Amino acid sequence: MGLKRQKQAKKTISFYKYNFSVREPFQILIDGTFCQAALKNKIQIKEQMPKYLMGEIQLCTTNCALKELETLGKELYGAKIILQRFQSRRCAHLKDPVPASECLLSMLGETNPHHYFVATQDHTVTAGVKKIPGVPLLYIILNTIVLDKPCQKSLDHVQAVQLGELVSPSQQQSIRSLKEEQGIAQKDGERRGKKRKRKQSHPNPLSCLKKKKKKGGPTPPKKMEQGENKKRIRNKKRKTEGGDNMSTHAITHT
Ligand SMILES: [Zn+2]
Repeated sequence: MGLKRQKQAKKTISFYKYNFSVREPFQILIDGTFCQAALKNKIQIKEQMPKYLMGEIQLCTTNCALKELETLGKELYGAKIILQRFQSRRCAHLKDPVPASECLLSMLGETNPHHYFVATQDHTVTAGVKKIPGVPLLYIILNTIVLDKPCQKSLDHVQAVQLGELVSPSQQQSIRSLKEEQGIAQKDGERRGKKRKRKQSHPNPLSCLKKKKKKGGPTPPKKMEQGENKKRIRNKKRKTEGGDNMSTHAITHT
């Protein structure tokens, strides 16, 4: 049983790595319900999670999730102690905490750009996660951590991407616009615009000055006689010692 479970997890992780650029250390967003279940089932999250996922992990949560546990009182004190040890990620509700379920889902956005895994026993969160493509879902069942198989939304997304490589240009265009609707497509135009702006900006005035100075500096022609050549070099030396004013003077003099 254990082997089969591990094999399934490996397959699922490769799916997310290949199709959604999920990378180690896996960012695992955990809520109080998962900690509570882990405590009940005597699961050491920090030890067992990396073994099960076969990779480095980073356990994290949000301030809202912590706040919610605090308000729920004594029964969840143990879960709170566990959750507190994890990194708290900045959410959008610093001043007015929202329910943990709402907060966790807000961390994912529409496309899970930070590649979060979500570890929860909360059905509201689970249902929300399944509406977003590319969010690996973890929960505890029968004393063990389980990585859920990719949801339909993830499978559909992957299929659409694969079709994009095979279909005609006109169909590709429609897929592209669909992606844009879902916010999946990259905004190339914006990036390019920024680059162009940078090119147009005025050069540093100081660098201009230096350039002029170089131009004015005498480069002795090769054919020149030795005596004159020496003189020129001496002249040059004096110029650099004398500073800017001196150098302009020397140039006008010769
Ligand atoms: Zn929040």
